[in-house]
Amino acid sequence: MNKIEHIGIAVKSIDSSTSLFAKLFAKNAYKREEVLSEGVITEFFQLGDNKIELLEATHAESPIAKFIEKKGEGIHHIAFEVSDIVAEMKRLKQEGFQLLSEEPKNGADNKLVCFLHPKSTNGVLIELCQSKEA
Ligand code: ZN
Repeated sequence: MNKIEHIGIAVKSIDSSTSLFAKLFAKNAYKREEVLSEGVITEFFQLGDNKIELLEATHAESPIAKFIEKKGEGIHHIAFEVSDIVAEMKRLKQEGFQLLSEEPKNGADNKLVCFLHPKSTNGVLIELCQSKEA
């Protein structure tokens, strides 16, 4: 894994949280995007090398809706940038980590992504992400 790509924060309202974090960072978000496969609307802030992703559920079955129901708003996942997501998924599987999908999925911000089950990572939801070639 190369570096932390972003930290994902689950929020109830993307609109009010985007204003809140814009005030906190003294900087506007650069992108809002809906990810249909995950049932979320995301909003990204860039801070130097790092990004913060806010996530709001678009329906009750969304993983974000379930997360907020159980734990409330807060840090949801840490995303790590990888150069070859398929190779990394294979390696982690061999190491005994539980992947949440067999294939990389289309994520927000032009990325291929895969999540690791928090049961196999000390309760931390980890996202692998690889930039798609333009
Ligand atoms: Zn993410």
